[in-house]
Amino acid sequence: MPIARTTALLLASAVLAAVPARAQSLQGSPASIDRMYRQAQAHDLTFYRTAAGVRGAVRDGDLVRLSGNSDYRLSGVSQPFALAITRTFVQRLAEQYHDECDERLVITSAVRPRSIRLVNSTERTVHPTGMAVDIRRPANRRCLNWLRGRLSYLEGEGVLEATEEHRPPHFHVAVYPGPYRRYIGRDDAGVSADRRTASAETPRRPAAPRARSSTYRVREGDSLWDIARRHNLTVERLRTANDMRSTRIVAGQVLIIPAR
Ligand SMILES: [Zn+2]
Repeated sequence: MPIARTTALLLASAVLAAVPARAQSLQGSPASIDRMYRQAQAHDLTFYRTAAGVRGAVRDGDLVRLSGNSDYRLSGVSQPFALAITRTFVQRLAEQYHDECDERLVITSAVRPRSIRLVNSTERTVHPTGMAVDIRRPANRRCLNWLRGRLSYLEGEGVLEATEEHRPPHFHVAVYPGPYRRYIGRDDAGVSADRRTASAETPRRPAAPRARSSTYRVREGDSLWDIARRHNLTVERLRTANDMRSTRIVAGQVLIIPAR
């Protein structure tokens, strides 16, 4: 990557409470709750207090409906609304998930006004802003591993905060609007011509059906080049399949190995 571009990226990521480099973990902590809360504040998001407040935000276009599609469905969501950028995240993740797992992603919570406090939810939850969604934990081990890997990767990119919760089993994901928008903008402008056609809002479908992809869990000492070579792929192809903008990988990360 040219130095000028690297600098631009560094500057861009310094805006809006840059997320320091750190080990990716899906374990919740007071620090992770704090990071999400600070992102909500840095983006000047509204914490809706009541269902009426949410309805008003939907009327004003500040929140949009999560309607479900062929890639994701909702289960027990009383307020199926979120920020538009969070819906884009759900659509993109669900499309990849469906492709990988042959099943739809299940969303179990979206915006949750402050009047609806769950027993074990924290005072500083960002659900009232519409930036967060809860995703049911997949029962299938392979799908679960893929989802863990994908969320860890995106968290490492500094575009969201994800935690794996146990009662009930789900992933809580807070999407950082600015960083995530820049991330998918880069993706759209980026490496692969065949992915450039659709807009960020429209879930993308490959033009023709393809053979099944598989996954690979990164081991200590692996490089992207090694993994690509071992699977007879180009690094570019591997990066595109995994929505990666750098070649950085970490042990434990699960990569999609596209079918050739
Ligand atoms: Zn949650």
